[in-house]
Amino acid sequence: KKLPVDPSEEPGVRQVKGACFSRVKPQPLTKPRFVAVSHEALALLGLDGAEVMDDPRGPEYLSGSRVMPGSEPAAHCYCGHQFGQFAGQLGDGAACYLGEVKVPPGQDPELLRENPSGRWEIQVKGAGLTPYSRQADGRKVLRSSIREFLCSEAMFFLGVPTTRAGSVVTSDSRVIRDVYYSGNPRHERCSVVLRIAPTFLRFGSFEIFKQADEFTGRQGPSYGRDEIRGQMLDYVIEMFYPEIQQNYPDRVERNVAFFREVMLRTARLVAQWQCVGFCHGVLNTDNMSILGVTLDYGPYGFMDRFDPDFICNASDNSGRYSYQAQPAICRWNLVKLAEALAPELPPDRAEAVMDEYLDLFNRFYLDNMRKKLGLLQKEEPEDEILITQLLQTMHNTGADFTNTFRSLSQISCPAEGEGEGEVVKKAADLLLDQCASLEELKAANKPTMDPRELAMLLSMAQSNPALFQMISDRATIARQLDRLSRLKDLMESSQEELTAKHADDWTSWITRYRKRLALELEGQSDVQAVQEERVRVMDGTNPRVVLRNYIAQNAIEAAENGDFSEVQRVLKVLERPFCSQTGLELPAWAGGDGAAAQGERD
Ligand code: AMP
Ligand code: MG
Ligand code: MG
Repeated sequence: KKLPVDPSEEPGVRQVKGACFSRVKPQPLTKPRFVAVSHEALALLGLDGAEVMDDPRGPEYLSGSRVMPGSEPAAHCYCGHQFGQFAGQLGDGAACYLGEVKVPPGQDPELLRENPSGRWEIQVKGAGLTPYSRQADGRKVLRSSIREFLCSEAMFFLGVPTTRAGSVVTSDSRVIRDVYYSGNPRHERCSVVLRIAPTFLRFGSFEIFKQADEFTGRQGPSYGRDEIRGQMLDYVIEMFYPEIQQNYPDRVERNVAFFREVMLRTARLVAQWQCVGFCHGVLNTDNMSILGVTLDYGPYGFMDRFDPDFICNASDNSGRYSYQAQPAICRWNLVKLAEALAPELPPDRAEAVMDEYLDLFNRFYLDNMRKKLGLLQKEEPEDEILITQLLQTMHNTGADFTNTFRSLSQISCPAEGEGEGEVVKKAADLLLDQCASLEELKAANKPTMDPRELAMLLSMAQSNPALFQMISDRATIARQLDRLSRLKDLMESSQEELTAKHADDWTSWITRYRKRLALELEGQSDVQAVQEERVRVMDGTNPRVVLRNYIAQNAIEAAENGDFSEVQRVLKVLERPFCSQTGLELPAWAGGDGAAAQGERD
C-alpha cells in the first residue's frame, strides 16, 4: 500500500502539501568508507557484515552515495510538537528512506512477532538536502553518527525496543559545524548512519493532519486530508498491527484498539528507559515512534550518578525532558497523537485509553524494578517504598546508577548461620564504593542557574506570588533550591562526616532490603536454587555496561583522528552488556564520567 507521494517535481526546501513523502536523491559523499558495521543489524537484511566491509561498493550503497537497484529514495513529511509547541512541518530533513528489504528466510520467528510486516524500512541519515531540511544542510557529522550508531545497537542488546543501525560511514566531504562547547567553527566530516526499523513512522506523521491548515496550508478536502489520514492509519495498522486489523471488524473499535496498543507500548518503553537510567533528551512528538521503539538518538544520555533531575540536552533549559519527566511527557505526547487522530478516534474513547496509562507505566516499572532488585517470588506492597528509598539513597550519596544496581546481586538472601550485622556491613562497604566524595557531591549539586537570576525569581515569588505562579519555570527553580539546600549541608560537612552519613544511609536501606529478601525464602524448600535464580535474573537485568557519555566520547575522538578501532571495540562490548567476563573489561579511561554531551543538535 503506497502512501501519497509529493506530485511536484519541484526541488529544494519548501512546504509540501497533500503528500506524506517527497522523492529525493541522496547526495553522494566523497570517498565514503566504513567506520564500523553492526554484523547483527546487517544480518536482519540478509547481509554479511564481513562481505559488505570487503566490497568497495559497500560504503557507497550503505551511505546512499550509490542508489541500490530498485530503490526509490524518499523523504517523509511529518509535523510535530517541539518543546510543547506545535511546530508545523518538520519532516526528514537529513534522513532519507531508501526503500524496504524483505525479511530474508531463515530468521528467528520471534522476529516476525516484533516485525509482522515481514520487511525492514532502511534509511540513510545524513544523506543531504530534502524539502524538509529547513535552514540546515541535511548532513550529519562523525560525532552525531557514531552516537546514534552505538546507542541504537546498545539499546537493542539491553533489550530496549529501538530502531537499529547497520553501519556508520564517514567521508572526505565536509560541513561546517559551530561546535558550541568550543565556540570554534570546525570543518567536520560528513558521515551517514544506515538505520533499520519496521517503520520510521511516528506520532508526528499523523500530525500533518492536525491544525495543519494554518501552518502548512493543507486545506481540508482539496488535498484529501481525511483520505490520506485514513490511508496512513490503515497502512500502519495492517502492516504493523495485523492482529488488531483481524480482530476488530468495526473501524472505530479497531482504531481504539490500535491507540491502546501504542499507549501500552509507549508506557512499557519509557518504563524500560527509567530502569536503565536512559534519558532521551528530545521527546518531541516527532521523535515518538508509532511502534513504541526508541527513535532519534541526539543528545541522549545514560546517567552516571543517580539524579532524578538529570538533563542531557544542553538546550533544555526548563528540564522539560529530564529523566524523571519522561513518563509524564510520553503521556502528553500520546494525548497529542490522539488529537491528531481525532476524526478517526473519538476523543472520549481516547481519554478512556489514556486513563490507563499511569497504572500501566507503574506496573511495567515495578515489574522491571523487582527484577533489578531480585524480588521474584512474591509482590509485596512495600516493594514500591523499598525502590523509592533505594533511589533516594542513591541520589543522596551520589551513587552510580548502573554500578549500584549491578552490585545488588552480591547481597544475598539471609542464610542460616551468618551474622546479620557482618553481612550488612559488607554490603554497605560494597555500596559505599559507588558513592561520590564530598567534592564530587558538591560539584554535582552546584546550582546551574545564574545566582542573580535565581535571587530575582525568589524575590518575585515573595513579593508577587500570583505572577510567580504564571512563570513556566517554577519547576526549574524548585530544582535549583533543592540543589542549594543540599549544597549548604555539604558545605557544613567534612568528608569523614559525609562518609559516616552515607554508611548510615546504606546500612538502613540494606537492613530493609534483607528483611524483604527473607520473604523471598518463605515456603521455599530449596534456598540455594532461589538464590541462584535471583542472581541469574538480576545479572541479566542490571547491565554491567551502558553507553556512558565518556565511552562514546572516547570512541568519537579516536575516530576523528582516523582510528575507528575504538568504535568497533565499544560496539563489541555493548553487544554483551550483561556479560561479566574480564575479556570484555573496559579500560579505566582518564577522566571517567562527567564529560558534557557533545554529539547533539546535528
Ligand atoms: P530532531 O530534533 O533531531 O528530532 O530534528 C528536528 C527536525 O530537524 C527534523 O525535521 C529533522 O529532520 C531536522 N534536522 C535535524 N538535523 C538536521 C540536519 N542536519 N539537516 C537538516 N534537517 C535536520
Ligand atoms: Mg527527530
Ligand atoms: Mg535528530
